[in-house]
Amino acid sequence: MKNTKPKSKVAPAGAAKRRVSRPRSAYSKDEIREIFRRFSIQRPEPKGELEHVNPFTLVVAVALSAQATDAGVNKATRALFAVADTPEKMLALGEDRVRDYIKTIGLFRNKAKNVIALSRKLVDDFGGEVPRSREELVTLPGVGRKTANVVLSMAFGQATIAVDTHIFRIANRICLAPGKTPDEVEARLMQVIPDDYLYHAHHWLILHGRYVCKARKPECERCVIADICKAPEKTCDIPAPLVELPPQAIAAAQ
Ligand code: SF4
Repeated sequence: MKNTKPKSKVAPAGAAKRRVSRPRSAYSKDEIREIFRRFSIQRPEPKGELEHVNPFTLVVAVALSAQATDAGVNKATRALFAVADTPEKMLALGEDRVRDYIKTIGLFRNKAKNVIALSRKLVDDFGGEVPRSREELVTLPGVGRKTANVVLSMAFGQATIAVDTHIFRIANRICLAPGKTPDEVEARLMQVIPDDYLYHAHHWLILHGRYVCKARKPECERCVIADICKAPEKTCDIPAPLVELPPQAIAAAQ
């Protein structure tokens, strides 16, 4: 039935505040379960690609990886972590030498400052240990919600979704969990991903985005979920199930 409701930005007098409805996932529960079942067969034990030797070096590696590739970060941190794998050793090394180790990484000056500042805070406020809660992690300089979620997942085994550029793109492109901001996408993914797949979902989605559902040209012909995928820009002719997409989901994917 045609929706003839006029659009108005002005709420009628006395109207209660309404929640703005967000576009919903274009997939049924069964389809979402099937998507993650296939990812789980394709990569039974998905691993992050940032090299680290303990929770501290993981925090540093993730903080350094903003706007940089994992391979580029690994190249720099191998030598750095060989001499400084604790906050105390990082402080002893000092900002100038940290900067030398990481100078091949973008924004290295600022990042070296943050590595020293977060090491200082770990020593002063957390007894040199990496805290295990998101609230505490985000108090560390250079650590935002995304970094905290990666650390909680990879270092402490908590099921979190750290929405990076790949996950944000896939969630919107295939209309799995459309959202305008990483926080919105994170909240929706946490809602729609079945609990038993949640722990690995973060890595499955990142690896799928990095190697198959790429930003410029998704490689749909070798995608394990091509027959389920409802992305408007799917490039192969495996038909998707006939389910109409909500217009907001299409808009979000463009
Ligand atoms: S079919 Fe294409 S667009 Fe859909 S998830 Fe796979 S690679 Fe991405």
